[in-house]
Order: sequence, then C-alpha cells, then structure tokens
Amino acid sequence: MKIDLHSHSTHSDGKESVEQIFQYAAEAGITALALTDHDTTAGWDEARVEAAKQGITFVPGIELTTESPLGKSVHLLAYLPDPKNLALVNAMNTVKAARYDRLLTFIAKLQDGYPELTLEHVIGDLDPLKVAVGKPHLADALIALGKFDEREIQFLPGGPLHKNSPFYVENKGMPTLEAIRMVRAAGGVPVLAHPLTRGRDESKFEPNETVRSHFLEMIKAGLGGFEVWHREVDETARAWLIALAGEFGLVTTGSSDYHGKDGKPNLLGENTTTEEMLKRIEAQATGSAIQWA
Ligand code: AMP
Ligand code: FE
Ligand code: FE
Ligand code: ZN
Repeated sequence: MKIDLHSHSTHSDGKESVEQIFQYAAEAGITALALTDHDTTAGWDEARVEAAKQGITFVPGIELTTESPLGKSVHLLAYLPDPKNLALVNAMNTVKAARYDRLLTFIAKLQDGYPELTLEHVIGDLDPLKVAVGKPHLADALIALGKFDEREIQFLPGGPLHKNSPFYVENKGMPTLEAIRMVRAAGGVPVLAHPLTRGRDESKFEPNETVRSHFLEMIKAGLGGFEVWHREVDETARAWLIALAGEFGLVTTGSSDYHGKDGKPNLLGENTTTEEMLKRIEAQATGSAIQWA
C-alpha cells in the first residue's frame, strides 16, 4: 500500500478541490489518503465519494491549530474523531474565528508595506467562518496584486510571511494538551504534525530536557504518535522522535502535507505511512471509520 496521511483542499488552504486531489492521488499510485484540512471536517463527505470513485481508501482527519505553553502555534492531526462531537465542533469554530481575527491584524500590518492590500483581496467570496484562513490566503492575495509570482518565496527569510517578518502575527488556538485530550474524548487519535518544525528559527533541532518534558506531558495527555517522515522534520529530530515513540509505544507516520501542485512544493506520496501504523491508528479510534477501498 502507498499511504499518505496529510493533505489539504480548498476547504482550508489547499489550492485544489477534493475531487482534483483524489484524481491526482490515483495518478500518483496512492492507495490510502487522509484529508486533513485545517480546523474543519467540511471536505469529508466529498472525500468519501471521490475516494470511492478512484478506488482509494479514505482516512478522515483534521489538522487542528493549537497553542503551545510558549505561545507558538502547534499543529495537531486528529484521525477518525467524531465530526459531530460538541467540544470538537466548538473548538474548530473558535479557531476559525480566531484565525479570521488574526488575518485582520495581519492585513493591517501588511498594509504598511502593501497599501493596496484589502480584506476583499484576501478572502474574496470565501466564508472565513467555514474555511480556516491563514497565511496562504495572504500569499495568494499578494500574487493577485502582482507583488509575487508564487506562495513559496513569501514564506522564506525576507518574505512578508516569514515568521521573523515585521508583519508577522502568530495564530491563537486551544492549548495543545487540552486539544489532545479533546481529540481522544471525541474518539480520535491525536498525532503531532511535523513536530519540532514550527516556532523554530532556521537552526537545527537540539534535543534537550525541556523539550523532552513537554513531549512527556503531551504523551501523558494522550498523544498517539508523531508525523516523523515529513519534509520539514530534519534527521536529528526524526531520530529523536522515533526513539521516543519506541519508548512509549506510539505510532510514527509519514506524509506529504500536500497543498496542491502550486500550493507548496510537497508532492502527494513523497512520504508514506506503513499499513501497520494505519491499522494501529484504526484500532485506537472510535469516533469515525476508515473507508477501506
Ligand atoms: P498559518 O496556519 O496561517 O500560520 O499558516 C501556516 C500554513 O502556511 C501552513 O499550513 C501551510 O499551508 C502554509 N505554508 C507554510 N509554509 C509554506 C511555504 N513555504 N509555502 C507555501 N505554503 C506554506
Ligand atoms: Fe496549510
Ligand atoms: Fe501543518
Ligand atoms: Zn498541513
């Protein structure tokens, strides 16, 4: 099997529809794909239909925006939660509203450098209470204004969306530990997305006791695993995470974090998860089911 457990559609900040993604997934020889849009399950129904059409196994997922004790944004993948769980629905709605609020602040700051930029350019006719808005939407607006040719360059050092940019505004979310407990209570399996990559400058990851104690707290709260094969997770971090997963019997996954052919350079299937790991995720979940092809 070729299993990719992380992708985004136009229901969040991906550039392609769910239909398009499953077509491309079939072309890439993917046999199981998780749709993990930011803070929404809105694409799941469509994904079930498109996956069936392409003969692909569908794994329902979400990438939740959470906040670490240090105020950094931490992404938490939630596989197979109950999409109608009240706490989960409320949390996703709160995050979407907070993302919109953050977007307004971001736009106000960006107007110092790009006075033409307006809210209208950024959201167009999308509903920010349905679609989790974020930096990629700002990037697309600056492309439409002719300031840049692509998303990617805007995220690099010196770009307006890089975390050290004077325009930068951090996302707000539910505390990570609370989110982990919430996902478990909703019958889902919480897996840390691209761990140790965000809120970090360009320097390499250095394992230390502080990091370890944060991770132990997350494990105690119910964390189920780490996304270790991801293009942003460097080798030092990966080795450290694999050892920690082994110590506590957690799952390790690999994924592309696909955002569309020109959404991000990440390509469908560039990293994959073993069937054993997917079965272990399935065995822990009670909130929703994998649609096996
Ligand atoms: P936000 O959640 O608004 O802080 O933005 C984070 C999102 O920005 C990620 O989930 C990606 O979708 C996107 N992103 C981050 N880095 C890049 C990049 N280098 N190129 C394109 N999109 C990116
Ligand atoms: Fe994204
Ligand atoms: Fe992410
Ligand atoms: Zn993602």
